[in-house]
Amino acid sequence: MNHGKTILQTFVTLLLLGNLLHATESKPSPTEPRERDYYAPNSEKLAPDEMRIIACGTGMPTTRSAQAAACFLVELGNGDKFIFDIGSGSAERISALQIPYDYLDKIFIGHLHSDHFGSLGEMFIGGALMGRQKPLRIWGPNGRTPELGTAYAVKKMEEMYTWDLAGRVGLVDFRGYSLDVTEFDYKAENAVIYQENGVTVRSFPAIHSLDGPVSFALEWNGLKFIFGSDTYPNKWFIKYAKDADLVVHECFVAVPDLITKMRFTPEQALVVGTQIHTSPEAFGKVMQTVKPRMAVAYHFFKDFDTTAQVNDRIRKTYDGPLSLAEDFMVWNITKDKMRVRMAVVEEHTWAPPLASEPKLAGKDDKKNYAKKTGVPLDSLGYSKYIIDGKWTEVNKVLRETYEEASDALGREFKYPENK
Ligand SMILES: [Zn+2]
Ligand SMILES: [Zn+2]
Repeated sequence: MNHGKTILQTFVTLLLLGNLLHATESKPSPTEPRERDYYAPNSEKLAPDEMRIIACGTGMPTTRSAQAAACFLVELGNGDKFIFDIGSGSAERISALQIPYDYLDKIFIGHLHSDHFGSLGEMFIGGALMGRQKPLRIWGPNGRTPELGTAYAVKKMEEMYTWDLAGRVGLVDFRGYSLDVTEFDYKAENAVIYQENGVTVRSFPAIHSLDGPVSFALEWNGLKFIFGSDTYPNKWFIKYAKDADLVVHECFVAVPDLITKMRFTPEQALVVGTQIHTSPEAFGKVMQTVKPRMAVAYHFFKDFDTTAQVNDRIRKTYDGPLSLAEDFMVWNITKDKMRVRMAVVEEHTWAPPLASEPKLAGKDDKKNYAKKTGVPLDSLGYSKYIIDGKWTEVNKVLRETYEEASDALGREFKYPENK
């Protein structure tokens, strides 16, 4: 009875307050700007004690335009930025944010499913092309054998790009085209895997598909961010995510939708939707125990006809703060405040501003690359056969472009003859 009275009193107070605010609110100006309820990238200062998290991928291994696969960007008030998982399609989302690529050099991979690291190649090659002038740093777990670890996956990816890199070396600033991998023990519990500039990242085991997957905790300035990657509910998550500020945990498509929309057999839907992944009901149970300031559910296709079902199922077991994530959802967090919005981004973006001076290609770049890969030095360029196929009728117009640049910039650019 007392409880009901309190709610009634609060309601009346809010009603009165609302009327009061309404009465004193000034008319909106027809000419002055006013604050909008979305996040426009690079339009707001990040306060020194503030953390901003942007969902750059919230979907599934089955690709779709509306949602990239797993990727969360964490930006801190000290200027540091961290990427957690880099699933297929997420590099495009990141490019829409127009952040200088030198600041996007730290990627933490929770496990090696393609929907969690499928865009690594684009961040590696495209990121360097868009201004990253330092190695791309990657942290990820080992596995039960070397072939099942992150170092192996990244090494093979770099080998896969041999032709791509061989065609660039010697022509462009090659500093960004290198990878720096730190592999750590997937079984280590709450172990520090990164500690720089007041930021600590820890790892703890996850349960998903095979041994190897991990979840991450990032702590800075009294704030704690948890990224689950993929996992079946597990005891380590319950222990180490407890009372964190923002907790991202997978919440898979509900079993009925796996059957009707993903066209899984009922057997497959039940195993994948409840045993390999975390079902919405199980997600709720995890969050009810972990009690974050904000629970973030991701890893389901968020549509007009699936969202209600995911929400209803979560709400059977969890009644706390909840964000059903979609791409470009943004969380601003300080010790006292939590603001959740969507970002509105440009699609036709180019390279963002450069954070460091560009350089010309190093004169030993080709030699070093040949030595590193075993590709003969004389193969790092065209053969005489291909050079002889060049249609020389265009020389005149191309030479003019060189002359135009030389005139415009007041220094001579020498036309490359017969190369
Ligand atoms: Zn997975
Ligand atoms: Zn996944």
